[in-house]
Amino acid sequence: MDYVEKCPRCGGQVVEKEVKEVLWGGNNTAFLTVRAGVCLHCAERLYTPDTIKRFEEVEAKLKQKSTAEFRPVGRSFEVAL
Ligand SMILES: [Zn+2]
Repeated sequence: MDYVEKCPRCGGQVVEKEVKEVLWGGNNTAFLTVRAGVCLHCAERLYTPDTIKRFEEVEAKLKQKSTAEFRPVGRSFEVAL
């Protein structure tokens, strides 16, 4: 994959890593594990256009509640304190 070598934010070194990302759509949440470029200095994450496109697809599915292909991992609760 092609990531920039230097972080556009701080100029730090960027390495490819597996990271967890959380996406929201409507009331639904999805947890993804994706490859991303991560700055060793400021932890800025850099995604490829393909990955960003996938994120948008997942967010759209969450919004439309078409989550049949996603594996449920738990329930979310709203708690008023
Ligand atoms: Zn940085």
